[in-house]
Amino acid sequence: MTVRTIEHRIGGKPTAGTSTRTAPVWNPATGEHQADVLLGGPADVDAAVRAAAAALPDWADTSVMRRSRLMFAFRNLVEQNLDELVRIVSAEHGKVLDDARGEVVRGLEVIDFACGIPQLLKGEYSDQVSTDVDMFSFRQPLGVCAGITPFNFPALVGMWMHPIAIATGNTFVLKPSERDPSASNFVAELWAEAGLPDGVFNVVHGDKVAVDAILDHPEIAAVSFVGSTPIAQYVHQRAAANGKRVQALGGAKNHAVVLPDADLDSAADHLIAAAYGSSGQRCMAISVAVAVGDAAGPLVERVREKARAIKVGPGLEPTSEMGPVVTREALARITGYIASGVEAGADLVVDGRWPDVLGDGFFVGPTLFDHVTPEMAVYRDEIFGPVLVVVRVDSLEEAIDLVNASCWANGTAIFTASGQAARVFQRSVHVGMVGINVPIPVPMAFYSFGGWKDSLFGDHHIYGPEGVAFYTRAKAVTSRWPEPTSDESFQRGNLNFPTAV
Ligand code: NAD
Repeated sequence: MTVRTIEHRIGGKPTAGTSTRTAPVWNPATGEHQADVLLGGPADVDAAVRAAAAALPDWADTSVMRRSRLMFAFRNLVEQNLDELVRIVSAEHGKVLDDARGEVVRGLEVIDFACGIPQLLKGEYSDQVSTDVDMFSFRQPLGVCAGITPFNFPALVGMWMHPIAIATGNTFVLKPSERDPSASNFVAELWAEAGLPDGVFNVVHGDKVAVDAILDHPEIAAVSFVGSTPIAQYVHQRAAANGKRVQALGGAKNHAVVLPDADLDSAADHLIAAAYGSSGQRCMAISVAVAVGDAAGPLVERVREKARAIKVGPGLEPTSEMGPVVTREALARITGYIASGVEAGADLVVDGRWPDVLGDGFFVGPTLFDHVTPEMAVYRDEIFGPVLVVVRVDSLEEAIDLVNASCWANGTAIFTASGQAARVFQRSVHVGMVGINVPIPVPMAFYSFGGWKDSLFGDHHIYGPEGVAFYTRAKAVTSRWPEPTSDESFQRGNLNFPTAV
C-alpha cells in the first residue's frame, strides 16, 4: 500500500526538496502507517532560509498596522478552520478531540496577543535629555528566525513562536516534530490564505539533520526550541556557539503538593486531568503528587477510583477521554517505567498495562503508583506518559524541599485552603510557573511561559512580552536638530565624554 508523502512548504509552496529520506507517521490509535514525512537536509534548510531572507526586507518594512491586520486575518482563519486543525492534530498525535481543541484555542490566544503588535512595539521617548537633545528607543526585528518544536503540541508550540516572530517583522522557518508534521503545513496554508507574503513563513520537515543545519546556518539570527532537556541543552549550546540568540525549553516533572486542608475531591479531579490528560504527554502535566500528612490515604483512594473510570480510546472518537501515546517506542518506554517502579518496590495502585483490548494502537491506561521515593526512576525521570506517582511527606517544608531538589522546574501546583501556606509555597519554590489550586498553570498569552533550571536554557521565556523581547533588539537614538546659531553651545570640539548640559 502506498501512503501519502508530507512535503515541506518553502516560499509559499509545497516542495519535495532535495533529500529523499523519510520517516513514517503513525496513526497512534490503530498502529497503522498513515504517511511518510520527508526529512529535509542542509540544502532544504538552506532553501527555506534563502526564501525567508529574500522576504525579509519587505516584511520588516511593512507598516506595523498592516502586520497587525494580517495577524487579525490569520487569527480569523485559524478560528474558522479550528475543527479541521483539531482533527489533523488528533489524527497524528492521538490526543482526544476536546484536548486538541484546547491546544488550538490556547494557540489562538497567542495570535490574539500578536494582533496587538502596534501597542507592544511602542518605544520610549524622552524630551530634552540635554539642551536641544531628545532621546528615544525602539525595537527592530532580528531577521530570519527558526523554531524547532516537539510532538506533543503539534499546533500550539509553533504558535508560541511564529505569530510573535512574524508580527515583530521577522521571517520564520519552522521545523516541526517529524512524528506529527501535518498541522504545521495546514498552518502554513492558513498564513498564505491570510495574505502573508511568500517566504515569510516556511516549514522544513526533518530530524536531527535538519536541526543541525538550522543551528549552523549563518543567516539564521535566532532559534526557539521546545522539546526534551538533553536536546534543549544541545540546541542551546550549539546555537549560542554559532552566535545566535536562543531560547531552549526542555522537559519537566511537575509536582503538585496536596495539603491535608485541601478539598481532596477537587484536588483529585484536578490531578486526574493534569496527570492523564493527553496521556500525560504535556510538559505541564502533573506527574508527581506530593501528599502531605493525612492527605495521602484519602487522596490516593480518590485518584484510584477516578483513574479507573477514565474512558481510554481513539482520539478521534468523541466519547474517548484519553487517547493513545504517540508511538510504539513511547509505549514501550512507558510500560518499561511501570515495570521498573514495581521492581523498585513502589506500590502499583492502578496498572495501565492492559492495551490489548484496544487492538494495535499505542495504548497504555492511567497508572498510579503510591509510596514512591525520590531515588526511584519513576520519580526521577520524565516518563512522559499517563503515570502519576505519589510521594508521601510529613510537612509543607518537606514538600517544598522535595520540589526544590528536582532538576526539573517547569510548573508546580499546591492544593490547600490556607492562603498563608500558598504564599509560603509561591515564594519559596524554585519553579517557573506556579498554580494555586490550579493544576496546569500555563500562563495566558499576555504573560510569558517558561521554566527554571533544566526546563529552560536561555534568558527569555516564550511568547507574551518576553517573546516580543526575544524576537526584537532595542535601538536607542540620541537626536539633536541644531539651529545654526545654537550649535556652538553643544560641546563641539570638546574631547571630554559628553554629559548633559
Ligand atoms: P524531542 O526533544 O525528542 O524533540 C523535539 C525536537 O527536536 C523535534 O523537532 C525533533 O525532531 C528534534 N530532535 C530530536 N532529537 C534530536 C537530536 N538528537 N538532535 C537535534 N534535534 C533533535 O522532544 P519530543 O519527544 O518531540 O517532545 C517531548 C518533550 O518535549 C518532553 O520532554 C516535554 O517535556 C518537552 N516539552 C517541553 C515543553 C516546555 O515548554 N518546556 C513543551 C512541550 C514539550
